[in-house]
Amino acid sequence: MRQKKFILQESELPTQWYNIQADMPNKPLPPLNPQTHQPLNADDLSHIFNKECSKQELDQEHAWIDIPEDVLEKYTFYRSTPLVRAYALEEALGTPAHIYFKNESTNPLGSHKINSALPQCYYCKQEGDTNVTTETGAGQWGAALSYAAKLYGLEAAVYQVKITMQQKPYRSSIMRTFGATVEGSPSMSTRAGKNIITRDPHHPGSLGTAISEAVELATTTPGCKYTLGSVLNHVALHQTVIGLEAEKQMAMAGEYPDTVIACFGGGSNFGGIAFPFMRHKIKDGKNTEFIAAEPESCPKLTRGKFEYDFGDEAGYTPLLPMYTLGHDFKPANIHAGGLRYHGAGMIISQLIKDGYMHGVDIPQLESFKSGMLFARTEGIIPAPESCHAIAATIREALKAKEKGEKKVILFCLSGHGLIDMPSYDSYINGDLQNYSVSDEEIEKFLKDVPQVEM
Ligand SMILES: *Cc1c(COP(=O)(O)O)cnc(C)c1O
Repeated sequence: MRQKKFILQESELPTQWYNIQADMPNKPLPPLNPQTHQPLNADDLSHIFNKECSKQELDQEHAWIDIPEDVLEKYTFYRSTPLVRAYALEEALGTPAHIYFKNESTNPLGSHKINSALPQCYYCKQEGDTNVTTETGAGQWGAALSYAAKLYGLEAAVYQVKITMQQKPYRSSIMRTFGATVEGSPSMSTRAGKNIITRDPHHPGSLGTAISEAVELATTTPGCKYTLGSVLNHVALHQTVIGLEAEKQMAMAGEYPDTVIACFGGGSNFGGIAFPFMRHKIKDGKNTEFIAAEPESCPKLTRGKFEYDFGDEAGYTPLLPMYTLGHDFKPANIHAGGLRYHGAGMIISQLIKDGYMHGVDIPQLESFKSGMLFARTEGIIPAPESCHAIAATIREALKAKEKGEKKVILFCLSGHGLIDMPSYDSYINGDLQNYSVSDEEIEKFLKDVPQVEM
């Protein structure tokens, strides 16, 4: 019988995260203080984030970082996640490629985000904080954070992008069920939100606006820390449990991936699955290809510029060295809310610059078409974000078919789409469209990027 699913024993779970910064030939450039343009240290970051994550963020020395005992225990509630061979999808495509996916949708919250929500809340609690706040796009991160905060006895306040709050109303219900308070962003409850609404009363909100509001709340509330679900180095670090498990599971299947694919919002599920494999490319000269699938409507990896830019719309965050479309870039209202972010993480940006990986742009209709095929073959309805990874995988599998290549493809199924069914309805009813961005539009937003020498 063909083996379809590979699962690790509890004793085989990783007990350390992998910090790729330590092994990178060119380290990411430092984040800068937006006023003085001086490099930030961990103390500067810990005004906003908890101390341990601030340290992890800038750690370019330790390749392996211990997962706290308590977090390990909570990981075992839902890990390992299955590595699955997508036989039915392969057959539908008629490809000689072997397609594997790492299924991060199996935990009750439905996405990979809980992998970082748990340690972030754990460290806040350890350090004596009482409250956490954050932004959320589609609501996956907000849901994961709300649950993790409840587990660790912290109060959570979540700013959710207004447009996705309307597209995906059940996610705010989930967050409130876990005890969090939820506000649509831009809101009138912060100075940043008021300013944005004054400039543009119909602003649909973006991850950039929601980050501004959450950072403002954290810096004006004692005992409250800001947490982020993507983009930053420590978030990708926590997500490396995905790739470390996958590495062992691929070995159980007797294979090693030629191509590793994940969808790309800020880079956390991509970094999570890719970095452990990329260490063999950096250190042992393995020839694996790494592909990040971003939406055509938010093409920072392929058409953005490598610049110091703000992580948020209002310009509250440190200046981060990243591929960016400009911090006030307004992505179209695509249904993959988690991919509507203007910049890429600092590690990823350096890795792209150094040629270790590349991005591909997926039109919205191709993403849903691919997600539909995956649902009809593998029986799992993927999150609209994950559909981008599936689309990129299908492109590669069809290329392999053309060339008659038996290549091994591994992709990350970052989440399920069961709360996103209105989006599937719109696709099935023919109500969705593609959104491309003109060069002029990108130029316009890039003009507002602060001028800082790299
Ligand atoms: C948040 C989210 C993403 C995008 O974020 P990354 O940090 O780029 O991984 C992708 N898929 C799902 C299901 C998400 O919830």
